[in-house]
Amino acid sequence: MSCDPVSFTLHPPERLSTASLMPITSRPEILFTRGEGAWLFDQSEKRYLDWVQGWAVNCLGHAPAAIAEAVARQAATLINPSPAFYNAPALELAGLLTDLSCFDHVFFGNSGAEANEGAIKLARKWGRVHKDGAHEIITFVNAFHGRTLATMSASGKPGWDSMFAPQVPGFPKARLNDIASVEALVGPATVAVMLEPVLGEAGVLPADDDFMMALRALCDRHGLLMIVDEVQTGCGRTGTMFAYQHSGVEPDIMTLGKGLGGGVPLSALLAKRQVSCFEPGDQGGTFCGNPLCCAAGVAAMRSLAAPGFLEGMRSVGLSLADGLRALSRDLGLGDVRGRGMLLALELGSDTAPGVVERARDAGLLINAPRPHCLRFMPALNTTAAEVAEGLGLLRAVLAG
Ligand SMILES: *Cc1c(COP(=O)(O)O)cnc(C)c1O
Repeated sequence: MSCDPVSFTLHPPERLSTASLMPITSRPEILFTRGEGAWLFDQSEKRYLDWVQGWAVNCLGHAPAAIAEAVARQAATLINPSPAFYNAPALELAGLLTDLSCFDHVFFGNSGAEANEGAIKLARKWGRVHKDGAHEIITFVNAFHGRTLATMSASGKPGWDSMFAPQVPGFPKARLNDIASVEALVGPATVAVMLEPVLGEAGVLPADDDFMMALRALCDRHGLLMIVDEVQTGCGRTGTMFAYQHSGVEPDIMTLGKGLGGGVPLSALLAKRQVSCFEPGDQGGTFCGNPLCCAAGVAAMRSLAAPGFLEGMRSVGLSLADGLRALSRDLGLGDVRGRGMLLALELGSDTAPGVVERARDAGLLINAPRPHCLRFMPALNTTAAEVAEGLGLLRAVLAG
């Protein structure tokens, strides 16, 4: 992998070069041309079983009929009347999301980071109006909330505090599953606690249900808002529609992204009525709540909410977790962590990047959030047969 320019030859003959792209990441010399459910195909029609799925974005797999049809229909009907006017898909999606969750109000954005920026603004506004100007939001070591300046500051990724200094102040860091480390940071300026119910980029580290309950109690005791960043864990990924539902607590604010649009850029900020304090002029965005992306969101959320969908997904997810555990036992590897279709395998050594490359050569796409662990994020409608096939490929790569 490198950032040097590469050229691809496509069929019918056409040359495309990477030379005009900003080299923001190093990528393998592969051009993906199409996808079908669990599978991706490259420029030479080699196929790959995809357990990255656009970074946990394609909840229904690649090019699912439900999304393709909804987008095509909406594109031919109305793409964007502007956020200053109502449109039917946005209203329908907002109603679906409030019906499926404990929240009352929705604001749509285009990326997870944008939804989290909105959550930060909403909490700061609430603090100004209801808590004497309190504005600090306690976040967590190794958390990931996005790549805008405020969300990078809220993130606890090592090195991110100085990368584009000065950072946005007001995000003291506690440790996940350590309620005392949260309590120690609470002061008069504290307005909220924000966390991922499963730290995804940190290597799939779940917050314990007990910790979620203790956090809710702490927030109630101190009059703080509980914000869950469910950009990765929401929309069925962990086996319930939203990950906060595992613990039974009700947060005050939630953000969604990734799976919400079934692959199309779409995010959401949700709030309970009593903390939904934005007034006209406080929040907005040119593309926010556009009918094209919201139509995809309606199709995605209807599919996830269909009777039996999440039950089926949970059982296939368990078969993946069981298979990973068997593999770990047989090959002397480490823990299997996570929930639903957000799983990680600890390798016990910093070999994950090499495993990712060899798996890709073998036709399996996986991801290494940390050098010592692999992450698995298949489509939520992947089949038991596809899981078995992927486990076979992974076993051959790890054993080889
Ligand atoms: C991916 C992710 C984000 C950022 O979403 P973008 O769409 O890349 O801006 C924020 N929070 C969590 C937990 C994520 O996994």
